[in-house]
Amino acid sequence: MQTIQAPTNCPSCGSLLEWSNDLLYCRSNSCVSQKQKKIEHFAKTLKIKGLGPSAINKLGLTDIDEIYSLTEEDISEGLSSEKLAKKLYAEIKNSEAAPFNTVLAAFSIPLIGKTASDKLSKIITDITEINESNCKAAGLGPKATENLLKWLHKDFYSFYDGCLPFDFKFEKASLVETLGTVCISGKLKSYKTKALATAALLDKGYIVKSSLTKDVTILVNESGVESAKTNQARKSGITIIENLLDLIGE
Ligand SMILES: [Zn+2]
Repeated sequence: MQTIQAPTNCPSCGSLLEWSNDLLYCRSNSCVSQKQKKIEHFAKTLKIKGLGPSAINKLGLTDIDEIYSLTEEDISEGLSSEKLAKKLYAEIKNSEAAPFNTVLAAFSIPLIGKTASDKLSKIITDITEINESNCKAAGLGPKATENLLKWLHKDFYSFYDGCLPFDFKFEKASLVETLGTVCISGKLKSYKTKALATAALLDKGYIVKSSLTKDVTILVNESGVESAKTNQARKSGITIIENLLDLIGE
């Protein structure tokens, strides 16, 4: 049997490779191939169509921030096509609105993908709140936390900060999932109308359903009347609350 020898040096830049979790990594800061892969992953995650390996090469991109300093003329020149330049430039501009959940997952930080950024988005609102205790509270493991904090100080604050167009705010949509879906049964005491109560709930980040659909997690019954809805909710194990203000918190 022939044993396969793992390479010791990066095939692209020749730097010594490092083992991490059974995978070999080139850690050289000047490795072109590594940087191109990073840009490729970034473009793919942010759904920037037309920015694949060949375009990255033709445009001579060496880091992520350079994507956003390209003018339409630069692209047109690099790709030798005004038509492609128009498209790609629009794609790049569109990507600037991406929520931080997506942007963070696009940086190729080991162990920090969409799942980790979604976890973070549930407890913090933007990049400035990333720290060890918040990572722990969000359920990130020690290795993922270490990688993220290292990136934050070594790459973000000392380099990317100020040269990327994002607002670095997490998307709130994922908060909705955690708060729950509410259905109101019968007359309310806390609010004059169901419409007012609904508006207040939506404002807090709850989803409101008028009927007891499968996704309802909380039933509000302030009247105390055992309605058909209340009965059904009790059987399905849905949380029943008697005061809507317990949810709104006012
Ligand atoms: Zn390399």
